[in-house]
Amino acid sequence: MPTRLTFTGAFMRSVAPALARLVTCLSLAGCALALAGQNADYNPAKPHHRPDGFVNRYAPAPGHGSDSLLKWQWERLRDGLPKPPAAPVTGVAPDLAVIRSPGPAPAATWVGHATVLVQVDGLNLLTDPHWGERASPVPFAGPRRHQPPGVPFDALPPIHAVLISHNHWDHLDEGTVQRLMDRHAGIRFYVPLGVQRWFKLQIRGARTEGPGQNVFALDWDDSATLPGATAPVTLQFLAVQHWSARMPWDRNQTLWGSWAVLHPSWRFWFSGDLGYSPDTQDIGRRLGRVDLAAIAVGAYQPRWFMKASHIDPAEALQVMRDVRARSAFGIHWGTFEGLSDEPLDQPPQDLRRAIEASPDKPEFRVLRHGQTWRME
Ligand code: ZN
Ligand code: ZN
Repeated sequence: MPTRLTFTGAFMRSVAPALARLVTCLSLAGCALALAGQNADYNPAKPHHRPDGFVNRYAPAPGHGSDSLLKWQWERLRDGLPKPPAAPVTGVAPDLAVIRSPGPAPAATWVGHATVLVQVDGLNLLTDPHWGERASPVPFAGPRRHQPPGVPFDALPPIHAVLISHNHWDHLDEGTVQRLMDRHAGIRFYVPLGVQRWFKLQIRGARTEGPGQNVFALDWDDSATLPGATAPVTLQFLAVQHWSARMPWDRNQTLWGSWAVLHPSWRFWFSGDLGYSPDTQDIGRRLGRVDLAAIAVGAYQPRWFMKASHIDPAEALQVMRDVRARSAFGIHWGTFEGLSDEPLDQPPQDLRRAIEASPDKPEFRVLRHGQTWRME
Protein backbone atom coordinates (compact mmCIF):
# COMPACT_ATOMS: atom_id res chain seq x y z
CA MET A 1 0.00 0.00 0.00
CA PRO A 2 1.61 3.29 -0.93
CA THR A 3 0.95 5.42 2.12
CA ARG A 4 -1.48 8.23 1.52
CA LEU A 5 -0.14 10.24 4.39
CA THR A 6 2.23 12.91 3.30
CA PHE A 7 4.73 14.52 5.58
CA THR A 8 7.06 17.45 5.33
CA GLY A 9 10.12 15.99 3.67
CA ALA A 10 12.77 17.99 5.49
CA PHE A 11 11.34 17.11 8.90
CA MET A 12 10.99 13.46 8.04
CA ARG A 13 14.59 13.28 6.85
CA SER A 14 16.00 14.87 9.96
CA VAL A 15 14.22 14.69 13.30
CA ALA A 16 11.50 12.07 12.86
CA PRO A 17 13.66 9.05 11.99
CA ALA A 18 15.86 9.53 15.03
CA LEU A 19 12.84 10.03 17.29
CA ALA A 20 11.12 6.93 15.94
CA ARG A 21 14.18 4.78 16.40
CA LEU A 22 14.64 6.12 19.89
CA VAL A 23 11.06 5.26 20.84
CA THR A 24 11.45 1.83 19.27
CA CYS A 25 14.65 1.21 21.16
CA LEU A 26 13.39 2.26 24.55
CA SER A 27 11.74 -1.13 24.82
CA LEU A 28 14.19 -3.23 22.85
CA ALA A 29 17.43 -4.69 23.96
CA GLY A 30 20.26 -4.48 21.48
CA CYS A 31 18.85 -1.47 19.74
CA ALA A 32 22.11 -0.03 18.47
CA LEU A 33 21.51 -1.41 14.98
CA ALA A 34 18.02 0.04 14.77
CA LEU A 35 19.29 3.43 15.97
CA ALA A 36 21.78 3.41 13.15
CA GLY A 37 19.11 2.42 10.60
CA GLN A 38 20.82 -0.88 9.97
CA ASN A 39 19.54 -4.30 9.03
CA ALA A 40 19.88 -6.46 12.16
CA ASP A 41 19.37 -9.59 10.00
CA TYR A 42 22.01 -8.59 7.44
CA ASN A 43 23.77 -11.53 5.83
CA PRO A 44 26.39 -10.37 3.31
CA ALA A 45 26.23 -13.76 1.56
CA LYS A 46 22.66 -13.06 0.42
CA PRO A 47 22.33 -10.80 -2.64
CA HIS A 48 19.01 -9.29 -1.54
CA HIS A 49 20.40 -8.22 1.83
CA ARG A 50 21.83 -4.76 2.36
CA PRO A 51 23.39 -3.35 5.50
CA ASP A 52 20.41 -1.02 5.77
CA GLY A 53 17.59 -3.34 4.59
CA PHE A 54 16.54 -5.47 1.63
CA VAL A 55 16.22 -5.12 -2.16
CA ASN A 56 14.29 -6.92 -4.89
CA ARG A 57 16.02 -9.54 -7.04
CA TYR A 58 15.22 -8.08 -10.45
CA ALA A 59 14.64 -4.38 -9.87
CA PRO A 60 15.40 -1.72 -7.35
CA ALA A 61 12.90 -1.77 -4.53
CA PRO A 62 9.97 0.22 -5.80
CA GLY A 63 8.59 2.91 -3.71
CA HIS A 64 8.56 6.46 -4.70
CA GLY A 65 10.19 9.69 -3.80
CA SER A 66 8.13 12.38 -2.22
CA ASP A 67 7.90 14.15 -5.60
CA SER A 68 6.02 11.33 -7.36
CA LEU A 69 3.86 10.66 -4.29
CA LEU A 70 2.86 14.32 -4.26
CA LYS A 71 2.24 14.23 -8.03
CA TRP A 72 -0.08 11.23 -7.62
CA GLN A 73 -1.92 12.80 -4.69
CA TRP A 74 -2.35 16.05 -6.66
CA GLU A 75 -3.65 14.23 -9.75
CA ARG A 76 -6.21 12.17 -7.84
CA LEU A 77 -7.41 15.27 -5.97
CA ARG A 78 -7.67 17.18 -9.25
CA ASP A 79 -9.54 14.34 -11.00
CA GLY A 80 -11.69 13.29 -8.03
CA LEU A 81 -10.28 9.74 -7.89
CA PRO A 82 -11.07 7.07 -7.03
CA LYS A 83 -14.64 7.28 -8.32
CA PRO A 84 -17.16 5.38 -6.20
CA PRO A 85 -18.13 1.88 -7.41
CA ALA A 86 -21.15 1.70 -9.71
CA ALA A 87 -22.83 -0.49 -7.07
CA PRO A 88 -21.66 -1.34 -3.56
CA VAL A 89 -19.35 -4.33 -3.41
CA THR A 90 -21.26 -6.77 -1.22
CA GLY A 91 -20.38 -10.08 0.36
CA VAL A 92 -22.25 -13.31 1.01
CA ALA A 93 -23.23 -14.90 4.31
CA PRO A 94 -20.34 -17.23 5.13
CA ASP A 95 -21.05 -20.95 5.21
CA LEU A 96 -20.08 -21.33 8.85
CA ALA A 97 -20.96 -25.02 8.95
CA VAL A 98 -18.36 -25.71 6.27
CA ILE A 99 -15.85 -23.31 7.80
CA ARG A 100 -16.13 -24.99 11.20
CA SER A 101 -16.07 -28.48 9.78
CA PRO A 102 -14.60 -28.41 6.28
CA GLY A 103 -14.25 -32.14 5.81
CA PRO A 104 -11.48 -33.71 3.77
CA ALA A 105 -11.60 -31.29 0.82
CA PRO A 106 -9.22 -28.32 1.09
CA ALA A 107 -11.04 -24.98 1.16
CA ALA A 108 -10.26 -21.30 0.89
CA THR A 109 -12.57 -18.57 2.15
CA TRP A 110 -12.02 -14.94 1.14
CA VAL A 111 -12.52 -12.82 4.25
CA GLY A 112 -11.59 -9.64 2.37
CA HIS A 113 -8.60 -7.80 0.92
CA ALA A 114 -5.55 -10.07 1.49
CA THR A 115 -7.16 -12.10 4.27
CA VAL A 116 -7.87 -15.70 3.26
CA LEU A 117 -8.87 -18.58 5.55
CA VAL A 118 -7.09 -21.65 4.19
CA GLN A 119 -8.24 -25.07 5.46
CA VAL A 120 -6.37 -28.24 4.67
CA ASP A 121 -6.06 -31.57 6.48
CA GLY A 122 -7.39 -30.29 9.81
CA LEU A 123 -5.30 -27.11 9.76
CA ASN A 124 -6.75 -23.60 9.64
CA LEU A 125 -4.45 -20.88 8.34
CA LEU A 126 -4.97 -17.17 7.79
CA THR A 127 -3.10 -14.97 5.35
CA ASP A 128 -2.52 -11.30 6.23
CA PRO A 129 -5.41 -11.18 8.74
CA HIS A 130 -7.16 -7.81 8.88
CA TRP A 131 -10.39 -7.27 10.79
CA GLY A 132 -9.65 -3.58 11.41
CA GLU A 133 -11.76 -0.63 10.32
CA ARG A 134 -8.92 1.12 8.53
CA ALA A 135 -5.65 0.19 6.83
CA SER A 136 -3.82 3.11 8.35
CA PRO A 137 -1.44 4.14 11.12
CA VAL A 138 -4.13 6.39 12.61
CA PRO A 139 -7.76 5.59 13.50
CA PHE A 140 -9.26 8.77 12.04
CA ALA A 141 -7.84 8.80 8.49
CA GLY A 142 -6.56 6.54 5.74
CA PRO A 143 -8.21 3.78 3.68
CA ARG A 144 -11.47 2.74 5.29
CA ARG A 145 -13.28 -0.57 5.12
CA HIS A 146 -16.05 -0.65 2.50
CA GLN A 147 -17.99 -3.51 4.13
CA PRO A 148 -17.51 -5.87 7.09
CA PRO A 149 -15.08 -8.79 6.95
CA GLY A 150 -16.63 -11.77 5.17
CA VAL A 151 -16.27 -13.95 8.27
CA PRO A 152 -16.91 -12.42 11.71
CA PHE A 153 -13.81 -12.66 13.89
CA ASP A 154 -15.70 -14.57 16.57
CA ALA A 155 -16.88 -17.14 14.02
CA LEU A 156 -13.37 -18.23 13.08
CA PRO A 157 -12.42 -21.84 13.73
CA PRO A 158 -9.29 -22.41 15.84
CA ILE A 159 -6.45 -20.81 13.90
CA HIS A 160 -3.22 -22.78 13.85
CA ALA A 161 -0.99 -20.55 11.75
CA VAL A 162 -0.89 -17.06 10.28
CA LEU A 163 1.17 -16.11 7.22
CA ILE A 164 2.22 -12.47 6.92
CA SER A 165 3.42 -11.25 3.50
CA HIS A 166 4.80 -7.84 4.52
CA ASN A 167 4.29 -5.00 6.93
CA HIS A 168 2.14 -2.55 4.94
CA TRP A 169 -0.88 -1.38 6.90
CA ASP A 170 -3.40 -3.25 4.74
CA HIS A 171 -1.56 -6.53 5.45
CA LEU A 172 -0.34 -6.29 9.05
CA ASP A 173 -2.99 -5.05 11.49
CA GLU A 174 -1.87 -4.81 15.08
CA GLY A 175 -5.35 -5.07 16.62
CA THR A 176 -6.17 -8.19 14.64
CA VAL A 177 -2.82 -9.86 15.37
CA GLN A 178 -3.23 -9.20 19.09
CA ARG A 179 -6.77 -10.63 19.11
CA LEU A 180 -5.56 -13.75 17.32
CA MET A 181 -2.69 -14.15 19.75
CA ASP A 182 -5.03 -13.71 22.74
CA ARG A 183 -7.85 -15.98 21.57
CA HIS A 184 -6.23 -18.83 19.65
CA ALA A 185 -4.10 -21.02 21.90
CA GLY A 186 -1.02 -22.46 20.23
CA ILE A 187 -1.24 -20.11 17.24
CA ARG A 188 1.96 -19.59 15.23
CA PHE A 189 2.88 -16.56 13.15
CA TYR A 190 5.18 -16.94 10.13
CA VAL A 191 6.59 -13.58 9.11
CA PRO A 192 9.12 -12.05 6.71
CA LEU A 193 12.62 -11.55 8.05
CA GLY A 194 12.72 -8.44 10.22
CA VAL A 195 8.99 -8.41 11.06
CA GLN A 196 9.67 -10.59 14.12
CA ARG A 197 11.05 -7.47 15.82
CA TRP A 198 7.71 -5.70 15.31
CA PHE A 199 5.96 -8.66 16.92
CA LYS A 200 8.37 -8.65 19.85
CA LEU A 201 7.75 -4.95 20.40
CA GLN A 202 4.01 -4.67 19.68
CA ILE A 203 2.31 -7.99 20.45
CA ARG A 204 1.76 -9.32 23.97
CA GLY A 205 2.64 -12.99 24.15
CA ALA A 206 4.90 -12.97 21.08
CA ARG A 207 7.96 -15.17 21.50
CA THR A 208 10.50 -14.93 18.71
CA GLU A 209 12.97 -17.47 20.10
CA GLY A 210 13.45 -20.13 22.74
CA PRO A 211 10.85 -22.38 24.39
CA GLY A 212 7.30 -21.53 23.40
CA GLN A 213 8.41 -19.71 20.26
CA ASN A 214 5.33 -18.64 18.32
CA VAL A 215 6.74 -16.13 15.84
CA PHE A 216 8.97 -17.51 13.11
CA ALA A 217 10.86 -15.23 10.72
CA LEU A 218 11.73 -16.62 7.30
CA ASP A 219 14.05 -15.33 4.61
CA TRP A 220 13.32 -15.88 0.90
CA ASP A 221 13.44 -19.59 0.00
CA ASP A 222 13.33 -20.61 3.67
CA SER A 223 10.92 -23.38 4.66
CA ALA A 224 9.16 -24.35 7.86
CA THR A 225 7.20 -27.45 8.78
CA LEU A 226 3.76 -26.88 10.22
CA PRO A 227 2.72 -29.45 12.82
CA GLY A 228 -0.79 -30.72 13.41
CA ALA A 229 -1.84 -32.28 10.11
CA THR A 230 -1.88 -35.98 9.31
CA ALA A 231 0.71 -35.35 6.57
CA PRO A 232 3.69 -33.01 6.63
CA VAL A 233 2.77 -29.46 5.63
CA THR A 234 5.61 -27.25 4.45
CA LEU A 235 5.49 -23.47 4.34
CA GLN A 236 7.83 -21.68 1.94
CA PHE A 237 8.51 -17.96 1.84
CA LEU A 238 9.20 -16.91 -1.74
CA ALA A 239 10.40 -13.70 -3.35
CA VAL A 240 8.10 -11.36 -5.24
CA GLN A 241 8.77 -7.78 -6.30
CA HIS A 242 7.44 -5.32 -3.75
CA TRP A 243 8.68 -3.26 -0.80
CA SER A 244 7.95 -2.63 2.86
CA ALA A 245 7.33 0.27 5.22
CA ARG A 246 5.27 1.02 8.31
CA MET A 247 6.44 4.61 8.39
CA PRO A 248 8.20 6.90 5.91
CA TRP A 249 11.53 6.31 7.67
CA ASP A 250 11.65 2.49 7.75
CA ARG A 251 11.38 1.73 4.04
CA ASN A 252 12.56 -1.80 3.10
CA GLN A 253 14.07 -2.48 6.53
CA THR A 254 11.97 -5.67 6.74
CA LEU A 255 11.42 -8.24 4.00
CA TRP A 256 8.34 -8.87 1.82
CA GLY A 257 7.23 -11.92 -0.14
CA SER A 258 4.70 -14.62 -1.00
CA TRP A 259 3.84 -17.92 0.71
CA ALA A 260 3.40 -21.47 -0.48
CA VAL A 261 1.48 -23.99 1.63
CA LEU A 262 2.56 -27.42 0.45
CA HIS A 263 0.55 -30.47 1.51
CA PRO A 264 1.26 -33.79 -0.25
CA SER A 265 -2.18 -33.70 -1.86
CA TRP A 266 -2.78 -29.94 -2.25
CA ARG A 267 -0.56 -26.98 -3.00
CA PHE A 268 -1.62 -23.40 -2.32
CA TRP A 269 0.17 -20.13 -3.13
CA PHE A 270 -0.59 -16.68 -1.69
CA SER A 271 0.88 -13.82 -3.72
CA GLY A 272 0.96 -11.05 -1.13
CA ASP A 273 1.52 -7.74 -2.96
CA LEU A 274 3.65 -7.78 -6.09
CA GLY A 275 4.69 -5.97 -9.21
CA TYR A 276 5.32 -8.13 -12.25
CA SER A 277 8.87 -9.57 -12.38
CA PRO A 278 10.67 -12.82 -13.27
CA ASP A 279 10.28 -13.82 -9.61
CA THR A 280 6.98 -15.55 -10.37
CA GLN A 281 8.61 -17.68 -13.10
CA ASP A 282 11.21 -18.66 -10.52
CA ILE A 283 8.38 -19.67 -8.18
CA GLY A 284 6.81 -21.80 -10.91
CA ARG A 285 10.08 -23.61 -11.55
CA ARG A 286 10.56 -24.13 -7.84
CA LEU A 287 7.06 -25.34 -6.99
CA GLY A 288 6.35 -27.21 -10.21
CA ARG A 289 2.60 -27.18 -9.59
CA VAL A 290 0.08 -25.20 -7.59
CA ASP A 291 -3.54 -26.31 -7.15
CA LEU A 292 -4.95 -22.99 -6.00
CA ALA A 293 -3.45 -19.50 -5.97
CA ALA A 294 -4.76 -16.38 -4.25
CA ILE A 295 -3.43 -13.55 -6.39
CA ALA A 296 -3.67 -9.79 -5.83
CA VAL A 297 -5.73 -8.14 -8.58
CA GLY A 298 -6.39 -4.67 -7.14
CA ALA A 299 -4.58 -1.39 -6.33
CA TYR A 300 -3.08 -0.98 -9.80
CA GLN A 301 -4.00 2.52 -10.96
CA PRO A 302 -2.41 4.85 -11.89
CA ARG A 303 -0.04 2.49 -13.69
CA TRP A 304 2.82 5.03 -13.82
CA PHE A 305 2.84 4.99 -10.01
CA MET A 306 1.67 1.47 -9.16
CA LYS A 307 3.18 -0.77 -11.85
CA ALA A 308 6.45 -1.52 -10.08
CA SER A 309 4.68 -2.72 -6.92
CA HIS A 310 1.18 -3.89 -7.98
CA ILE A 311 0.16 -6.12 -10.89
CA ASP A 312 -3.03 -5.37 -12.82
CA PRO A 313 -5.58 -8.13 -13.64
CA ALA A 314 -3.96 -8.95 -16.99
CA GLU A 315 -0.61 -9.37 -15.28
CA ALA A 316 -2.32 -11.47 -12.60
CA LEU A 317 -3.27 -13.96 -15.35
CA GLN A 318 0.39 -14.13 -16.35
CA VAL A 319 1.37 -14.65 -12.72
CA MET A 320 -1.11 -17.52 -12.53
CA ARG A 321 0.56 -19.13 -15.56
CA ASP A 322 4.05 -18.40 -14.21
CA VAL A 323 3.45 -20.15 -10.89
CA ARG A 324 1.75 -23.03 -12.75
CA ALA A 325 -1.51 -22.70 -10.87
CA ARG A 326 -4.45 -24.85 -11.98
CA SER A 327 -6.92 -22.40 -10.50
CA ALA A 328 -6.81 -19.00 -8.88
CA PHE A 329 -8.95 -16.31 -7.32
CA GLY A 330 -8.43 -12.59 -7.01
CA ILE A 331 -7.72 -10.88 -3.70
CA HIS A 332 -6.64 -7.37 -2.66
CA TRP A 333 -9.66 -5.58 -4.11
CA GLY A 334 -13.10 -4.32 -3.10
CA THR A 335 -12.33 -3.96 0.60
CA PHE A 336 -10.48 -0.78 1.59
CA GLU A 337 -11.48 2.50 -0.02
CA GLY A 338 -8.90 4.79 -1.52
CA LEU A 339 -5.81 2.58 -1.70
CA SER A 340 -5.47 3.39 -5.39
CA ASP A 341 -7.26 5.22 -8.20
CA GLU A 342 -9.45 2.50 -9.74
CA PRO A 343 -13.00 2.19 -8.38
CA LEU A 344 -13.46 -0.66 -5.89
CA ASP A 345 -15.49 -2.72 -8.36
CA GLN A 346 -13.18 -2.33 -11.37
CA PRO A 347 -10.70 -5.20 -10.75
CA PRO A 348 -13.26 -7.99 -11.43
CA GLN A 349 -14.37 -6.23 -14.63
CA ASP A 350 -10.79 -5.85 -15.87
CA LEU A 351 -10.09 -9.45 -14.87
CA ARG A 352 -13.09 -10.70 -16.84
CA ARG A 353 -11.95 -8.78 -19.92
CA ALA A 354 -8.42 -10.20 -19.53
CA ILE A 355 -9.80 -13.76 -19.28
CA GLU A 356 -12.04 -13.24 -22.33
CA ALA A 357 -9.02 -12.01 -24.31
CA SER A 358 -6.91 -14.94 -23.16
CA PRO A 359 -6.67 -17.97 -25.48
CA ASP A 360 -6.46 -20.47 -22.62
CA LYS A 361 -9.42 -19.13 -20.56
CA PRO A 362 -7.83 -19.97 -17.20
CA GLU A 363 -9.97 -20.79 -14.17
CA PHE A 364 -9.33 -17.51 -12.41
CA ARG A 365 -12.34 -16.65 -10.26
CA VAL A 366 -13.48 -13.73 -8.21
CA LEU A 367 -15.00 -14.70 -4.87
CA ARG A 368 -17.35 -12.50 -2.90
CA HIS A 369 -16.44 -11.50 0.64
CA GLY A 370 -17.24 -14.49 2.85
CA GLN A 371 -17.40 -16.96 -0.04
CA THR A 372 -15.70 -20.35 0.28
CA TRP A 373 -14.10 -22.26 -2.59
CA ARG A 374 -14.00 -25.96 -1.76
CA MET A 375 -11.61 -27.99 -3.86
CA GLU A 376 -13.12 -31.20 -5.12
ZN1 ZN B 1 2.17 -3.64 0.03
ZN1 ZN C 1 -1.50 -4.25 -0.19
